[in-house]
Amino acid sequence: MDFDLTPEQSDLRDAVAALGRRYGHEYFIGKAKAGEHTTELWAEAGKLGYLGVSIPTEYGGGGGGITDLTIVCEELSATGSPLLLLVVSPAIVATILARHGTEAQRTEFLPRLADGSLLIAFAITEPEAGSNFHRLGTVAQRDGDEWVLNGRKCFISGVDHADYVMVVARTADAATGKLVPALFLVPTDAAGLTKSKLDMEIVSPEKQWLLYLDDVRLPADALVGDGDAGLPALFAGLNPERITVAAMSAGTGRYALERASRYTATRQVWGRPIGTHQGVAHPLAHAAIQVELARLMVYKAATLYDAGRDLEAGVAANMAKYATADAAALAVDTAIQAHGGNGMTTEYGVATLLGAVRAGRIAPVSREMILNFVSQHVLGQEKSY
Ligand SMILES: Cc1cc2nc3c(=O)[nH]c(=O)nc-3n(C[C@H](O)[C@H](O)[C@H](O)COP(=O)(O)OP(=O)(O)OC[C@H]3O[C@@H](n4cnc5c(N)ncnc54)[C@H](O)[C@@H]3O)c2cc1C
Repeated sequence: MDFDLTPEQSDLRDAVAALGRRYGHEYFIGKAKAGEHTTELWAEAGKLGYLGVSIPTEYGGGGGGITDLTIVCEELSATGSPLLLLVVSPAIVATILARHGTEAQRTEFLPRLADGSLLIAFAITEPEAGSNFHRLGTVAQRDGDEWVLNGRKCFISGVDHADYVMVVARTADAATGKLVPALFLVPTDAAGLTKSKLDMEIVSPEKQWLLYLDDVRLPADALVGDGDAGLPALFAGLNPERITVAAMSAGTGRYALERASRYTATRQVWGRPIGTHQGVAHPLAHAAIQVELARLMVYKAATLYDAGRDLEAGVAANMAKYATADAAALAVDTAIQAHGGNGMTTEYGVATLLGAVRAGRIAPVSREMILNFVSQHVLGQEKSY
């Protein structure tokens, strides 16, 4: 059992942390509050190769694994810049295309996903279906050489500055006629695709959108992979999504605890730093333990995934996502408490993360659905729903 990163991964971690520190949480929050995107940070991360670390070298990436992308997600979050679209464009979409895209799709999209010049959002959630993926109502019908898509999606992150959205739809299986999942690359300026912004209580540069697909016509090659790729392609994105979201939560927890520790080591109320009071230090220490425990599961999941042990990685990824969401929420809450009134100010940069860490218990898969998964697949209980 090896708990050390490789020398290359350690270098990656230090370099990403240095980039994140150069921008800082103030930059991230400033952009969010101004309704702008973290374009400069994204572009620089792309130029330095951090967005493409897990993309194969023949398509312009770094040739590493999800562990490397996990490091990028964790370190940027640990410096106060949890870039949500890391989970979407490099983790979900690039993995799906690298594993299941056609050669033409890999050649066209992966190099630009790797350098950050292309952004692809990911749309699965629907208002009616919710967590029940079997109820997806977005349908793709074949019409000659084209596909015609109709349906609605909700909570889709980053559509306003994405070039494409990878849309999960259902299409009739050629052999059985049954509706099966299929993924499509839809340009965000496609005729028939409209969006409206959801007002969310999360301070983030990435906004969530409702998407309406009304007779969106796409060429045949907008279908990801060949005709049978749908379900395996969709599953290929799930573990990287959960692992990188978990890494962002772990990083955010670390960030909050670092801010709090700095504060409690210097703030004096009774003539000594407040960190000398165990009532202040112990909750922070407890949160630090929870974050570190959860982090271990993130790297276990990433390691299993990179070893090609998808089923075990799935269990670990779900557990990591569950545990880091709770640990991050605890860390941010405890860090706010340790700051007193300053904890609620924008200046001290902790309460700004409340919405985002809370959302970690809901998206991309809720804690209840993870408990369902663990009950069924780890504890052998009958499916309850
Ligand atoms: C900030 C943010 C960003 C997002 N970005 C994206 C994105 O980019 N792309 C995308 O496709 N989606 C995105 N989502 C959507 C997200 O994945 C969903 O919100 C999530 O999967 C939960 O689905 P739902 O909101 O429909 O909740 P519902 O399914 O309606 O669930 C509501 C509640 O009921 C519980 N519940 C439901 N079924 C069961 C059951 N069988 N057993 C026990 N409890 C149950 C849930 O756990 C939850 O607590 C985003 C969401 C947020 C908040």
